[in-house]
Amino acid sequence: MNAKNKRTLKQDYLLVKRAVKLINDNTPHFVFYIAFYSFCCAAVSVGSNYITASIVDELTGNRRIKILIILLSCYLLEIVLKILRDYSWRRVRTFHIIAPKWEEMLLNAKNFEMDYKKTEDASVRAKRQMITDRSDESGFNELTVNIMYFFDGLFYLLMCSAITVSLFFRHAGRVLSGGERIIDSPLFTLAFFIIIFALSFIQYKFNIRFSKTIVKANQKKSLAQSRLHYYFDEYLDDSKSAKDVRIFNQSKLINHSFNRFYDEWGSYNKTLYRFMKKRYDYYNLFYLISNALTYVFVALKVYIGAFGIGGFIKYQYCIARIMESGFDFSVCFSKIRANNDYIEMFFEYLDMPSEMHYGKIPTEKRSDNIYDIEFHNVSFKYPGSDEYAIKNLSFRFKVGERVAVVGMNGSGKTTMIKLLCRLYDPTEGYITLNGIDITKYDYEDYLALFAVVFQDFRLFSFTLGENVACEKDYNKSKVLQCLDTAGLEERLKQIDRNLDAVIYKDFDDDGIEISGGEAQKIAIARALYKDAPFVILDEPTASLDPLAEYEIYSRFNDMVKDKTAVYISHRLSSCRFCDKIAVFHEGKMIQFGSHEKLLENKDGKYYELWNAQAQYYIEK
Ligand code: ADP
Repeated sequence: MNAKNKRTLKQDYLLVKRAVKLINDNTPHFVFYIAFYSFCCAAVSVGSNYITASIVDELTGNRRIKILIILLSCYLLEIVLKILRDYSWRRVRTFHIIAPKWEEMLLNAKNFEMDYKKTEDASVRAKRQMITDRSDESGFNELTVNIMYFFDGLFYLLMCSAITVSLFFRHAGRVLSGGERIIDSPLFTLAFFIIIFALSFIQYKFNIRFSKTIVKANQKKSLAQSRLHYYFDEYLDDSKSAKDVRIFNQSKLINHSFNRFYDEWGSYNKTLYRFMKKRYDYYNLFYLISNALTYVFVALKVYIGAFGIGGFIKYQYCIARIMESGFDFSVCFSKIRANNDYIEMFFEYLDMPSEMHYGKIPTEKRSDNIYDIEFHNVSFKYPGSDEYAIKNLSFRFKVGERVAVVGMNGSGKTTMIKLLCRLYDPTEGYITLNGIDITKYDYEDYLALFAVVFQDFRLFSFTLGENVACEKDYNKSKVLQCLDTAGLEERLKQIDRNLDAVIYKDFDDDGIEISGGEAQKIAIARALYKDAPFVILDEPTASLDPLAEYEIYSRFNDMVKDKTAVYISHRLSSCRFCDKIAVFHEGKMIQFGSHEKLLENKDGKYYELWNAQAQYYIEK
């Protein structure tokens, strides 16, 4: 990605080759269809010009009826070519419509399978954002459009060159004067083509120079555009912001800042279109000169009698097309190379390697739930951070125990859970499951042991049943039982479509809106449905008041039966029913014991926190 515009021709070729393979894998024979479409377009255009020219020649010359009939019937071939052209266009167009979503799906698939830590990594997110920002101007569509231009240029060049070559062999069939002999000579034709090619070459050089400037202007415009999009779509188009805007009368400030982005975007657009116009001005100038020269050249040939009016039509058209092909080539090559910045970023993203070690050992499926997890002197720093989020943590979960992890915000509780679930690996130390380092286990197998309800859990716009079971075909009675246990029985009675009701109205007007508390219950039911030996509540109830949280935690405690349950909270009262309480502070576990035992230590953190928080709780 950093090698922008610095790739060698070979590197650019390899990128295009890989992109084309990916496109062909998605839409078999896609490049063949593009080539075929371009071939048909060129054949229809060159063919009809050729037939028209031949008919004119025949009408102004021998006027043979048989030949005229043959020439006119060639138009039938044109109809067949047009049908084939339209068929291949349909295939090409279908891909063009799906391509942006298909690209997004590939990127999303990568997001699902990449190491979790990469999903939180700012540089990875920036990379993804940059790909999205550039996708307005670049992408697989842009590549295929330019491949099409390449084939257009190629077929026009081949067909028109094949016709134009005969110019060298067309001579006047009469005695010529000295000046006329010069016009008639092949050297005159050669000189004409040398001038035309020289003009095309100069124009090509100009075009390359402009293309580079246009690419840079486009990049600036894209950046400004994505800022504008962000402002509109993410920042302002959010019901949450509407409240603050009104209460604090922020509309003036917002408009001011929006206008700044808008002006910036507008000025980049102006620059871009100024360069684009300049490019076409130069192109038109060269085209005008070359065309004028072509007219003069072909007219002189007709004048000396090298060929008739039909030849004039034919050669003038073909030479103009050859020149346009040169322009097409220079535009499509520079655009393909510029678009490769995007393709390179795209593949870099897909190729991002996994840094975590994934073992192969299956976890034991124990009916007795005898699992033993131990942290061995574990320390952890988040990528890019110098601070330890966890420091020298040694800790054991005994089977069937209720363990609470309490501590102030930022003390490392959630980080400990992320390490436990292998969303991250420890920076130092290791974690074992039944005595074996957890990195040695098959990852999916290992994750199957945990059901976690995170603080920022997410439900999706699927049906209620699918949200709980996380699959399409699920056990209805088990889902109902889990929802019931989680306390949603009464609410469920009010929902018409029961488990088939879609949550939220994003995709279904009849979708149901749910309160924050109901969402928590559904998330808890999802954890119960998974029926994993370890269940963890990582403060999904933080937005509730302490008493409500205590109630949910203790009810959950009854639901999980013989499983190992871990409760996390910054509120000590929520977890006092637990057998063991681990007190976290600044990334370390500083105390471990039962509520009563911990309270006995009057110098301990637990005692200090308990007393500080107690004033907010109404003891029953
Ligand atoms: P708790 O769950 O106790 O509130 P966390 O485990 O979330 O605490 O956070 C522990 C420390 O790690 C905090 O200092 C927090 O700022 C930091 N931290 C948490 N998540 C990240 C992250 N994704 N990247 C960098 N630092 C993080």
